[in-house]
Parts: sequence; C-alpha cells; structure tokens
Amino acid sequence: MPETFWSFERLGVLDKMRNSDFIKKLSVQFVSHSGKESRPFFFEKHDPRENSQIWQVERGAFDQMLLDNAAEKGAQCRDKTRVTTVTFEGDRATGVELGLEDDRMQHVAVRVVLDATGLSAIIANRLKLKQEYISPFENCGRPAV
Ligand SMILES: Cc1cc2nc3c(=O)[nH]c(=O)nc-3n(C[C@H](O)[C@H](O)[C@H](O)COP(=O)(O)OP(=O)(O)OC[C@H]3O[C@@H](n4cnc5c(N)ncnc54)[C@H](O)[C@@H]3O)c2cc1C
Repeated sequence: MPETFWSFERLGVLDKMRNSDFIKKLSVQFVSHSGKESRPFFFEKHDPRENSQIWQVERGAFDQMLLDNAAEKGAQCRDKTRVTTVTFEGDRATGVELGLEDDRMQHVAVRVVLDATGLSAIIANRLKLKQEYISPFENCGRPAV
C-alpha cells in the first residue's frame, strides 16, 4: 500500500491527497479465515520514509480527483461514457465504440487502446485471455480468478 504514494507523486496529486478529508492510514491488520487478527503492521516500522503514511480513500471522491487531475494536465476526459466494443484490424486494436450519455454511439479511431476496465476486462474477455488462478494462500477451496 505505501508504494502507491509514489504513483500519487508521479500523477501530481500528492498535495490534493494531503489537503483532502481522506483518513490517514498508518498501519493494517490481517484477519485469518478463522477470524484471528494479526498484530497491527505499522508501515513506518517497515520503511520509515514519507510514504509510510497513506490514505483510506472514499472511492467516488478519489476517482473524481484523478479524473479532474487528468483533465487539468491536458487529457481529454469523457465521463458517463461507456466503451461498448474495442474494434480490431487483424490482431491490433484500432478503435473503440463509445456509448454516450444521450444514447448515441460514436466510433473513435486510436493508435493505442489501454484496457483499464478492471474486472470488466473488455479485451481479456474478448480474446479469452483470462485464466483461472488458484492462490497458494487460498485455503477455503474457492478459486480466485
Ligand atoms: C469493497 C472493496 C474494497 C477494496 N479495498 C481496497 C483497499 O483498501 N486497498 C486496496 O489497495 N485495494 C482495495 N480494493 C481493490 C481495488 O479497488 C482494486 O484492486 C482496484 O480498484 C483495481 O483497479 P483497476 O484500475 O484495475 O480497476 P477499477 O478500479 O475497477 O477501474 C475500472 C474502471 O473502468 C470503468 N469501466 C469498466 N467497464 C467500462 C466500460 N465498458 N467503459 C468505460 N469504463 C468502464 C469502471 O467504471 C471503473 O471506473 C478493494 C476493492 C473492493 C471491491
């Protein structure tokens, strides 16, 4: 978790995080499957640099902060817009179909498509790249994907 600090620094949002109302996070505790709690793991004891204090974010506010920051830094951002299809020429992704807020569709040709759709994993699903992964730490018999 503390390593995320340097990503915030690279993105230029450290000051916004410091000035935010997000709760400061100094440590974590781990809870086993049986409910047993570990002793608190204080980041500072492990690595006493400034990144030993991070934040517990409220997801909506945090996402908005990142979106606004990208726009401030010159990215063309579209909110309330859904990628419905990634279009391919051969094995190269060359564009996206967008579902706009007013239900219109728009095709955008691009040089590079970076799929950051999280669990939706549009490209990985289309190309059937997902593999079942069984964590060595998973002992309740349920595979994590
Ligand atoms: C309840 C919960 C608590 C968590 N707590 C923590 C925590 O304390 N610390 C921690 O490090 N991690 C935590 N995680 C995990 C963390 O949230 C994820 O690992 C991380 O968000 C994954 O990032 P991502 O960018 O891959 O995907 P996401 O953050 O899921 O981002 C995907 C984005 O793509 C958008 N999207 C999806 N499909 C489309 C589409 N077709 N068109 C346009 N946009 C689309 C989504 O709206 C979303 O904004 C938690 C997760 C959950 C569910």
